[in-house]
Amino acid sequence: MRKTNVATTLRTPAELVAHRLARPADLPDLEKVAARYAVAVTPEIAALIDPKNPDDPIARQFIPTSDELKETPGENADPIGDHVHSPVAGIVHRYPDRVLFKLVHVCAVYCRFCFRREMVGPGKDSALPDRAYATALDYIRAHKEIWEVILTGGDPLMLSPRRLSEVMTDLAAIDHVRIVRLHTRVPVADPSRISEAMVHALKVESVTTWVALHANHVSELTEGARAACARLIDAGIPMVSQSVLLRGVNDKAADLEALMRGFVECRIKPYYLHHGDLAPGTAHLRTTLAHGQNLMRQLRGRVSGLCQPDYVLDIPGGAGKSPVGPNYLVRQDSSPHEREVRDEMRYRVTDYCGDVHLYPPQ
Ligand code: SF4
Repeated sequence: MRKTNVATTLRTPAELVAHRLARPADLPDLEKVAARYAVAVTPEIAALIDPKNPDDPIARQFIPTSDELKETPGENADPIGDHVHSPVAGIVHRYPDRVLFKLVHVCAVYCRFCFRREMVGPGKDSALPDRAYATALDYIRAHKEIWEVILTGGDPLMLSPRRLSEVMTDLAAIDHVRIVRLHTRVPVADPSRISEAMVHALKVESVTTWVALHANHVSELTEGARAACARLIDAGIPMVSQSVLLRGVNDKAADLEALMRGFVECRIKPYYLHHGDLAPGTAHLRTTLAHGQNLMRQLRGRVSGLCQPDYVLDIPGGAGKSPVGPNYLVRQDSSPHEREVRDEMRYRVTDYCGDVHLYPPQ
């Protein structure tokens, strides 16, 4: 049932107040937030928000609050270090075999926890200029180790099918590029954009297209979102998920379980559960790493392997992603000396119930 009925995307605090998605008393603070970080709530997302619920998990993701004005130590406008790995505009080359290709800086919705929140929004450069696009393609052509190109941004599915088709064709013409992956929130935020023309644009010969869907709560997987994903998957485009661990959104085992089961039911393989990045003004949405590990342990005990994402942390400064899920295997001995001299070393392995078992060294 539609909880908040709006006809067009809401883009200002005043519009949020007018639709009871924010309180009039908060307007001055929200104007300050909106002056720095973009706001957009599509009709499909607004429809999921219960204005009477102060803890609504969808509102927490998309409706700005005065908490965003509080910056905490360690937060950073470029929390995962994109800039230090950007050899030319639009490209982030952090790992040898893949690059990020940032074509647009706009999104259908603006997430309050976005790690690129300083870079995205209507006031920023909306698309990579033609010359920069050509230079970025030259860079990919010149680096034969690049096997995978990840279109991100902003949201690449904000591009028109015509433009996406050109981009896909350009990438497919580069022999060493075998995979193009697109990271998007569009199937959830604006499912009608996943039209026949869009699906057609994403399917090109010579490269395999993957789509990674960003969703954080099972209620985002509406009938419309599921149908949009099915259009992609039925066309032969495999999908994976990415979610961000968020306080008050998916930081309980039951919520995470429902979300991961939802993905798998949609034929989307859970891929990443990101620990919240140190983006400015997002401390109220982050959990601790210990809490995240505990949730992953619980998830292991509740759902099948199909439903298990990797819990990952983007190391601040640009050192890349590391899995930070709980460790299920430890050496029984602890001293390095003991490790060298003992030939009866045992591993301790923890099962899905939390019980510990010994395992021989080989
Ligand atoms: S859709 Fe992605 S890039 Fe856009 S605001 Fe949300 S997290 Fe950031």
